[in-house]
Amino acid sequence: MLTDSFGRKFSYLRLSITDVCNFSCNYCLPDGYQCSQPRDFLSLAKITRIANAFSEMGTEKIRITGGEPSLRKDLPEIIAACKAPQNIKKVALTSNGYKLPQHINQWLDAGLDAINISIDSLDPRQFQQITGHNKLPHILKGIDMALSDGRADVKVNVVLMREYNGYDIETFLAWIKDTPITLRFIELMQTGENDKFFDAQHVQGSRIKQNLILAGWLPVINSHSAGPAQEFYHPDYQGRIGLIMPYAKNFCDSCNRLRISAVGKLHLCLFAEQGLDLQQHLQNDDVEPLKQHIRAMLGDKKVSHFLQDRLTGATRNFAMLGG
Ligand code: SAM
Ligand code: SF4
Repeated sequence: MLTDSFGRKFSYLRLSITDVCNFSCNYCLPDGYQCSQPRDFLSLAKITRIANAFSEMGTEKIRITGGEPSLRKDLPEIIAACKAPQNIKKVALTSNGYKLPQHINQWLDAGLDAINISIDSLDPRQFQQITGHNKLPHILKGIDMALSDGRADVKVNVVLMREYNGYDIETFLAWIKDTPITLRFIELMQTGENDKFFDAQHVQGSRIKQNLILAGWLPVINSHSAGPAQEFYHPDYQGRIGLIMPYAKNFCDSCNRLRISAVGKLHLCLFAEQGLDLQQHLQNDDVEPLKQHIRAMLGDKKVSHFLQDRLTGATRNFAMLGG
């Protein structure tokens, strides 16, 4: 198992397959996707090598992300390639849901185990204001299709923003009373490009946690290896809630993930100063040199991000790396 110098074990890989996105979320790409320079995204063959190498190093879960990963036409083949290695028990996808209704069956047939869809408001007009697209009913239809199929675990990511959904938590809770979805409330994080937006919109997850506990929500006891989300359940609700609070003390103690960008760079942290190039070891199917290279670089992983000090590393926005 991959282990860093602080004893943290890494069983989870977040793999970005493109940084292109068709949405313009106000906290991520407010001006839409801008192509700065031509670059080659990881090919299916290179993704297969990465999945094999990480499986051999004890990785059990791969999340495919972006940009918007569903913009890649070979997504079903990518899902299958990530699922094939022996140790990989779970392949997950994070998506804005734009292509969900048309493609969910293909993705499930390819072996997808879990899907996280981002919905930051259940009010269609507010959703359009946040994302630039009037697609909420279409995306909710896709979620219903995924739920009724039943093969994949379905979660919905909600980024907390003071003016856009801070008052709207009750609407989300009403939705999961009878819907077996886990809502993930994610604290807005500062990036290189969104500092003013962050200052105006950041809401602390701890306030939501207090309100949930007052309303009878109970913590799910997770093993330490479950990662940094805090989970809650309520006997009267079919759905669950996860809180991601990156500004909370000790958040990084339970870090269990590494990230690879769509151009094949290893990021030891979402807010690392740089990505570490893997390309020279992705050129053929011998994954031993790749494994050695990754193990050697893991020694440089820092104890924590430095977000509290407003240090956001090389991360200009999350579309670059997948969040
Ligand atoms: N395009 C896909 C989507 O939106 O689900 C996948 C990529 S997106 C970068 C992954 C997740 O990061 C989404 O749930 C998104 O809401 C979240 N995200 C993006 N920027 C963020 C920020 N500054 N703080 C917190 N979460 C953010
Ligand atoms: Fe695109 Fe996802 Fe960023 Fe929204 S959060 S702009 S959907 S990459």
